[in-house]
Amino acid sequence: MKQTIPGGSKYAAIKAKLRELKLHTVVLVRGETGTATATIMILGDTCTRGCRFCNVKTSRTPPPPDPDEPSNVAEAIASWGLDYVVITSVDRDDLDDQGSNHFAETVQKLKGRNIWIRCFRPNIETVEELQGVVRDRRANFEQSIGVLKMAKSYAPAGTLTKTSIMLGCGETPDQVLSTMEKVRAAGVDVVTFGQYMRPSKRHMPVSEYITPEAFEKYRSVGVEMGFRYVASGPMVRSSYKAGEFYIKSMID
Ligand code: SF4
Repeated sequence: MKQTIPGGSKYAAIKAKLRELKLHTVVLVRGETGTATATIMILGDTCTRGCRFCNVKTSRTPPPPDPDEPSNVAEAIASWGLDYVVITSVDRDDLDDQGSNHFAETVQKLKGRNIWIRCFRPNIETVEELQGVVRDRRANFEQSIGVLKMAKSYAPAGTLTKTSIMLGCGETPDQVLSTMEKVRAAGVDVVTFGQYMRPSKRHMPVSEYITPEAFEKYRSVGVEMGFRYVASGPMVRSSYKAGEFYIKSMID
């Protein structure tokens, strides 16, 4: 389970570009096969929600989004030459459009630089039964499943949908299996399972450390259910090795 902390000249260059363009990153990793992945968080670094597992800063009144952020994101990504970049965001319930126009503009700027967008990946985070315990009360299972379904029906052919589930939040194996079935029924291609780790004592405690055997069981059940790719292990995170998941799921 030991991981290498990212470093080296490429890592330093990416960090410098993020600073120069005032962008926020949440993860920067190099996978086991050498696939480099960065995750950029847009709409600022402060969320209007307060999920019990999440370590992102929160406020009811965050500063307005940086209007240059969409072009800066595109510029940074075009300059890095990484294999795969995840764009995520904080929630912005304070904005009339909840940040959707800012998101759309970012996507348009990326397309303007011929950067491929091939995977849509809202996270359901936990099993259906624990949504209200783990996530902010404004999020819920039906809404997340609805977004995944809608994305599949609108997306161009070849676009993958993906979601992630944290384990160790108090869920039962039966709840995990029934949630997986509902996720698969929504047409989701890729699912990931990782161990929840408590960021601080202010956050929700870990209920259980899931064994590697149990992670492997969920992986094989997921494959049998028809998911195109399942990543399941203690260190798997929503963005962890995202590029490798994508490449493998396209090849398999
Ligand atoms: Fe964190 Fe996302 Fe929840 Fe905001 S909505 S607190 S960023 S998990």
